[in-house]
Amino acid sequence: MSAAEINQSAEERREVLKEVLAQVQQCVRCQELAATRKNVVFGAGNADADLMFIGEAPGASEDEQGLPFVGRAGKLLETLLKEIGMERKDVFIANTLKCRPPENRDPLPVEIENCREYLYRQVELIQPRVICSLGNFSTKLLRDDPTGITRLHGKPEELTLGRRSVRLYPIFHPAAALYTPRMLETLREDFSRLPELLALPAPEQPMGAVEPIPEVAVASVKLAEGNSPAGRPHEDAADQLDLF
Ligand code: URA
Repeated sequence: MSAAEINQSAEERREVLKEVLAQVQQCVRCQELAATRKNVVFGAGNADADLMFIGEAPGASEDEQGLPFVGRAGKLLETLLKEIGMERKDVFIANTLKCRPPENRDPLPVEIENCREYLYRQVELIQPRVICSLGNFSTKLLRDDPTGITRLHGKPEELTLGRRSVRLYPIFHPAAALYTPRMLETLREDFSRLPELLALPAPEQPMGAVEPIPEVAVASVKLAEGNSPAGRPHEDAADQLDLF
């Protein structure tokens, strides 16, 4: 991200985000995921949101629809948002991985690393003030530390991702809270502090202090015309533009 990009208007940043979307839709860095996905799940919501949620990886419903958090965990996320006076369209929702791991297995370290650059580009372009990491995978990735969510949930901290400083606010993953009433209670309590975090002054930005992350390169392996690696029709970027 250049200094010029930092000062771009929301509309200009959204245009660049569309380019990143188009690149991710062609991504074959993780061969297994590229071969088995139905859709890339890039993320959806407000491309200029103050609040961004980062989950783990798409599940079956998300893979089917190309949208993040559309299953039961997503419904809970919507309920919790409503309780603090917000809606999906007010926030941006993304995942650590943009493709579904087969059988919903845990993301592999190499897959997380392959996808990290896309996530950081999203953060740089959306410029959220607060990022809620949902559960262990995104919390460990963003903090670059193995400390788990049980110790960290509900504790905001400032950190720099790529060239963007944000307030990270780790909370439990809604899918984990679905079946554990005490965890749901904690998640709800943590969620209730979001409005006060969003009202804080934006974190100071580290102009030029951090190494730039490399531009996302278009995947070197070309996909067959009109087909995803799995042989199904893939949505082209234009179809997903109204996601954000
Ligand atoms: N769980 C996630 O982490 N992400 C989704 O998109 C759906 C469920």
